[in-house]
Amino acid sequence: MFDALSERLSGIFASIRSKGRLTDADIDKTAREIRLALLEADVALPVVKAFIAQLKSRVKGTEVSQALNPEQQIVKIVNEELVEILGGETRRINYAKQPPTVIMLAGLQGAGKTTLAGKLASWLKKDGHSPLLVAADLQRLNAVDQLKVLAERAGVDVYAPEAGSGAGDPVQVARDSLAEAERAGRDVVIIDTAGRLGIDEEMMQQARDIRDATKPDETLFVIDAMIGQDAVSTAEAFRDGVGISGVVLSKLDGDARGGAALSVRHVTGQPIMFASTGEKLADFDVFHPDRMASRILG
Ligand code: GDP
Repeated sequence: MFDALSERLSGIFASIRSKGRLTDADIDKTAREIRLALLEADVALPVVKAFIAQLKSRVKGTEVSQALNPEQQIVKIVNEELVEILGGETRRINYAKQPPTVIMLAGLQGAGKTTLAGKLASWLKKDGHSPLLVAADLQRLNAVDQLKVLAERAGVDVYAPEAGSGAGDPVQVARDSLAEAERAGRDVVIIDTAGRLGIDEEMMQQARDIRDATKPDETLFVIDAMIGQDAVSTAEAFRDGVGISGVVLSKLDGDARGGAALSVRHVTGQPIMFASTGEKLADFDVFHPDRMASRILG
């Protein structure tokens, strides 16, 4: 991911390498090229606009360091602005004062929620927590079994509907899981919810019902970083329909242009908290805006 963008940016930086100083025309040209590079990487237009406005005002402003040549100055500012649109600081989980901490996962079908649930549980366990995975995705065939397999690999318990009464009610399963967590002494509950292929009112209502029944400390919106321009409308729909407190980028290992990753923080106003980079449990980490920016700048 980001290979094309990285290459474009390094080409733009190289073109100003030999300049002793930048004229306003040089700055405008460079800003235009960066704008195009971001748009071609599928970054959402409002994000690009904000980025370029900030870049231009900083480069044209008083920030002239004698120690840096024009190329270094542009690279420094682009780096800092990338960190900014990616959220600045790393945001940690907001744990409940009174356990269990409830983490609800929301997102479209195929976004990577179930996989993420397993990864997050494994990561939390290594961090000294005792998570309980909750199978409240009763929509997708196999989601419950998939979660059980992941739970076993992560070495954590899973709470899934029993056959019989209430078996088909994800809201009931989610609600009951809190009592189970308390009974079993689990301090974090991770609720996997059902997605659909597209935005769908029934899915949103179910997510809201689960949210209302469990009062999550974190509602994490999982988004497939491979989706391009659709990222913005999907993120907005979940922000407005369910309310989210953080974002998880999945499939960052994929071969896409990366615009979703660069847009979602600005569009939702919520921090990117974790990144998923593969199908294995270990392909997961806390999201660091500065590391991601460095990766983009190569
Ligand atoms: P859900 O419908 O949101 O629960 O999505 P799943 O967790 O079932 O993931 C959908 C597909 O994407 C599965 O085949 C996963 O193995 C795959 N997947 C999930 N996360 C990642 C990731 O970070 N990288 C890659 N390459 N594949 C992933």
